[in-house]
Amino acid sequence: TLTVDTLTSWMNNFADKIEVNKQYLSDLDTPIGDGDHGFNMSRGMKAVREKLTTKSVDLQAGFKNIAMALISTVGGASGPLYGTAFLEMAKKSSSTDDLGELLKAALAGIQNRGGAKPGDKTMVDVWSELVPEVKAGTLSKDKIERAVESTKDMVAKKGRASYLGERSKGHVDPGSESSGYLFEALLETEG
Ligand code: ADP
Ligand code: MG
Ligand code: MG
Repeated sequence: TLTVDTLTSWMNNFADKIEVNKQYLSDLDTPIGDGDHGFNMSRGMKAVREKLTTKSVDLQAGFKNIAMALISTVGGASGPLYGTAFLEMAKKSSSTDDLGELLKAALAGIQNRGGAKPGDKTMVDVWSELVPEVKAGTLSKDKIERAVESTKDMVAKKGRASYLGERSKGHVDPGSESSGYLFEALLETEG
């Protein structure tokens, strides 16, 4: 179960990871995209951090504040997708504070919005692999790393990387790496 305080710690930890790895995320986006993913996410998480300095009244407001900050600042393909994920968690939080359930709703939102399936070399690969692990209470650093790495040999079917077809192979998907940080931050926050 999630509280406003744990949500805030989770997001601050995620923001730290994005900041530390901002250049790396953009480097991942260079061969198969336009080289901006780290900068996009960094801009977004700075806005989220700023938003969360004022304590949200409840979980729903917290999720909504995060979603709005992401939607208005990240840009690119990933902004609306992360934004949708947090908006769906905001909606879901009116009926549950179970993290597995919240993340499941977020994943459904990402898939509805972007139309990607597992295997398409997008953040959906990491989310679809790890949401069940959160639900089962079996998330681990190792599983996160494996889910992120699994995108390396995939051929991209969605987003900019799909323009490269077969040549998208051999590179880790940047949005999967940033999503990996989100799950790592969660794992560390849950303690
Ligand atoms: P842009 O590609 O517009 O520059 P970013 O670089 O910020 O946006 O984000 C790229 C990431 O977005 C990809 O690595 C991928 O994980 C994710 N992505 C792109 N399109 C989709 C989609 N249709 N569904 C899910 N994820 C997607
Ligand atoms: Mg990009
Ligand atoms: Mg871009």
